[in-house]
Amino acid sequence: MAIMIDGKLVSAQLRQELKEQTSAFIAQTGVTPGLAVILVGDDPASAVYVRNKHRACEEVGMYSAVHKLPAETSESELLALIDKLNADDAIHGILVQLPLPKHISEERVVLAIDPSKDVDAFHPSNVGKIMLGNYRFLPCTPAGVMALLRHYEIEVEGKHCVVVGRSNIVGKPQALLLLEKNGTVTVCHSRTKNLADITRQADVLVAAVGRPRFITADMVKDGAVVIDVGINRLPDGKLCGDVDFAAVEEKAAAITPVPGGVGPMTITMLLQNTLRAAEK
Ligand code: NDP
Repeated sequence: MAIMIDGKLVSAQLRQELKEQTSAFIAQTGVTPGLAVILVGDDPASAVYVRNKHRACEEVGMYSAVHKLPAETSESELLALIDKLNADDAIHGILVQLPLPKHISEERVVLAIDPSKDVDAFHPSNVGKIMLGNYRFLPCTPAGVMALLRHYEIEVEGKHCVVVGRSNIVGKPQALLLLEKNGTVTVCHSRTKNLADITRQADVLVAAVGRPRFITADMVKDGAVVIDVGINRLPDGKLCGDVDFAAVEEKAAAITPVPGGVGPMTITMLLQNTLRAAEK
């Protein structure tokens, strides 16, 4: 039976620490770390994410301002709001909830955010810093995975780490962070041949594919550490990950559940980035 990597528990502990650090920071500087979250349109999933981020900020004593804009907001209106927030001293972190409506360029929006307030770490300047290993912020989900590994004292050094997925927000930065910790990293994607042959070699397997129960037990080595980043909604409304949890749990040494694994860590890392931004 695998060790259950409990993201809820780790996240709660980290948020308690963040609450204490935030309160000490406010006492020392008189400045309350502030996060602005921009939501364009009425995508229900995005609305839930934004609400959770807002609540999490308040819970740790940070200031949070949510800007809800209608779906028909023009790109220039959105860019004007970002400019205003870039210049606002009460705001240390700016996050634009993705995806944006099709008529707005995500690339231009990300570029408009002041890199020192880019708490999602999506701006090319922050992405470049991650590549060079001298970063200010880490993207929240891969950072959350690394925090879980650290908490459970799972060593990456010298291990074969296989990341399935190469998106800019999860797979690629995840691979870089594992490499930084001296893992031997293989990145797989939709064009990878003989995927199962590669995943079966993984000591640490990270699944960020976006396909329910895609990683089956025959793709996992006995004793592997399995990190499931996927969040997929099934037709019955329940959430499930990219890993066939029930079967893989029998083989893995440690595994993250969905929900309750990587998911809760993402917002916690956002809070950490916001505090870091304020400290700068
Ligand atoms: P993307 O859709 O951007 O990327 C998916 C990746 O999976 C791509 O690189 C794609 O390859 C690869 N892929 C797709 N099909 C296959 C296949 N058959 N074999 C191998 N690789 C394949 O997704 P994200 O990275 O944004 O998200 C991944 C998952 O993580 C989703 O379920 C998402 O909901 C979840 N997520 C969870 C978060 C959290 O807080 N826990 C935060 C962010 C995402 P290719 O590049 O070749 O197309």
